[in-house]
This record gives sequence, C-alpha cells and structure tokens, in this order.
Amino acid sequence: MKFVDEFRDPELITRTAAEIRRLADPQRLYRLMEVCGGHTHAIYRFGLKDLLPENIELVHGPGCPVCVLPMGRIDDGLAIASDPNVIFTAFGDMMRVPGAHGSPLQHKARGVDIRIVYSPADALKMAQANPSRHVMFFAIGFETTAPSTALTLMRARALGLRNFSIFSNHVTIIPAMRAILDSPDMRIDAFIGPGHVSTVIGCRPYEWIAANEHKPVVVSGFEPLDILQSIVMILRQLNEGCAEVENQYRRVVPWEGNRAALKAIDEVFKLRSYFEWRGMGFISQSALAVRESYAEWDAEQIFPTSGLRVTDPKAAQCGEVLKGVLKPSQCKLFGKECTPEMPVGALMVSSEGACAACYTYERRRHYLVSAGA
Ligand code: SF4
Repeated sequence: MKFVDEFRDPELITRTAAEIRRLADPQRLYRLMEVCGGHTHAIYRFGLKDLLPENIELVHGPGCPVCVLPMGRIDDGLAIASDPNVIFTAFGDMMRVPGAHGSPLQHKARGVDIRIVYSPADALKMAQANPSRHVMFFAIGFETTAPSTALTLMRARALGLRNFSIFSNHVTIIPAMRAILDSPDMRIDAFIGPGHVSTVIGCRPYEWIAANEHKPVVVSGFEPLDILQSIVMILRQLNEGCAEVENQYRRVVPWEGNRAALKAIDEVFKLRSYFEWRGMGFISQSALAVRESYAEWDAEQIFPTSGLRVTDPKAAQCGEVLKGVLKPSQCKLFGKECTPEMPVGALMVSSEGACAACYTYERRRHYLVSAGA
C-alpha cells in the first residue's frame, strides 16, 4: 500500500536504526518528547524503543485529547445528558473515560440516552431525525478535529437547526508545549512534533520553540520509518548545536497549514482565557469556546453546568505520566487496579493513551518472550 509499505520496509528501518546508533553520542543522554498520542501508540506497537540505543529516551507527551480532559468536564457533560430530552453523543473512545460518578458507558447502562457517533455530522443528522429531542455532541480533540466541529455548527446554523448543540472540549497544542517547557521538573532536548495537528496548524507555530528555547522540533509521520527518520533529523540538529523546525511529514503537512480549516475554526471558536488539563492544571488560552455568534448551538450556554473541578483518585499518577515524569508502568495502579477493561485514569482508555499502549503492547511482548515465541 502506497505510503505504508515503504515506511515499514525492514531494510530501510534497519539502516535508519543503524544511523541513529552512529549519531547518538554515547556520552550524552537524549530526552525526546513525542507530543502526539498517535506517535506513542506507534512507538509501542512497532517496538521502536528496542531499535534505539539506551541513551535515547522517548518521553510521552500530552497529545492525547481524551487523556488530558479533566474529570469535571466529563461530569458536566453527563449532567446535561441526565435531561431526559437530551441525546448525548460522543466518539467511541470517550465512552469508558471515568467521571466522578462513572463513565458515559456506565451512565448508558443506567438508562441515560448516550450514543456513539463517528463524526459531528452524524450527530447533526441524528438531530434532524429526532426533531422532538435535543442532540448534544461532546466535542473533543486538538486542532485536528476542531475544523469538523466548526463546519458542523456552520451547517446547523445554515439549516436553522435548533435542537443541536456542542459541548466544546477542544484544546490547542502550542500552550501545552509551552507549559511543558516551563515546568521545572521537565528536561526535554527536542520534540517529535505532532503530525495530525500540524496538518491544520502547519509548522510555523513551533518556530518560537526553536528560536527562543533552542529546542529542535521535527514534525513527524506515524509509520515506523517516519519516527526513526525524525529521530535522525533531531540527532543531527542536536549534534550540530542547532535548533530548527523541520518537517519530516511533508507528504501530508503543509508548512503553512490548512488555511480553510483554520478559517472555519476562527469563524466558530474563540480562545478561552484558561482551561484545566488533567494532570497539568490550568493553562491559559489553551482551549476553544464557541463564539457568541453561535451561542444558540453552544451546550454550555443552553444548559448551565456546575463547572466544578474534580480531582483524580489519589493513587492515580496520570499527571506525572502525562508530563513525562513517570513511565506508565511506574504508576502504582498500572496493570493492577487500572487496566483497559477497568480504567482508573483516562490514559488507560484511548488507544492513544500512553498507559493503554504500554499495557497492550508491552504485556503482549512479555508474554511472547516468556512463552519463547
Ligand atoms: S495506570 Fe491508570 S491511574 Fe496510573 S497513570 Fe495510567 S491511567 Fe493513570
């Protein structure tokens, strides 16, 4: 398959891994953060860490939108769903995310009308098919998914559809990267930049990281060779003492981003002054709220919610894992109280969550090794 087979070519991967070993200075420790949860998943899935020398450490970043959503937002969304006239819709990976009183799936089992959709447009169609009910879409994601939510609201307004709204939990990646760089317990040498978000925002928004923080950023694709090539590009920069933004994922990411998608976001959304990120606290200007001009389709304005802050269970160490301070398996609950079947934290829910990826692939590998396969 084009753009898959050549990026999984064993010979090229072996050669690129050898180049990484040649470039890595044995006297130095390299800490590279993969910002995107899709990269975390690919790194575990393809066992890429096994191809790297020990002094290259991959640190998982905050780029899984389900994982960074604080519990209070889930509770607020579910409070809206408790209105018998409301149909709560969300993507499937939201369904098992725990709130203080259970996940959306557990609420569904208690009789709340909660349905999985594959896109906000599906939720809009549901509203058209159920004119006597109110369909609320629990919108989540970075700049990658915000354009489709924005276009759906523009469509709802064009149709004059009044029984549809969104509960916006869209977040933006750059303020989170700034918060990581400002964090005192964080030492990152470079970023493997998020490929999906960058298809929308382009590469320019990372330039301050290279210019002001002197950290290389290489926007990367998601196949094994993409990630290994990105590491080669980063090592070359670090060895030469330079810091630039480079685009390894040129086959998908335009340097200037997607202007039409950015325009749609700007039409419908404005920046919130601050927003809570699970494990990272409040980050200013890091999330999107619906503009006043679309207030009639804004669930937060239609259904007042408590907005209460809900803390994670005390033993859960999601915050430390999200900030890259701990590895998933170092959390006290990992694989015991917290598993993909019975998640305590959101990082164990989404396939892009570091804990879920680690649990799925590392445990399988240990099983195969111990079985002599
Ligand atoms: S194992 Fe569970 S509780 Fe611990 S960090 Fe991961 S998701 Fe959070």
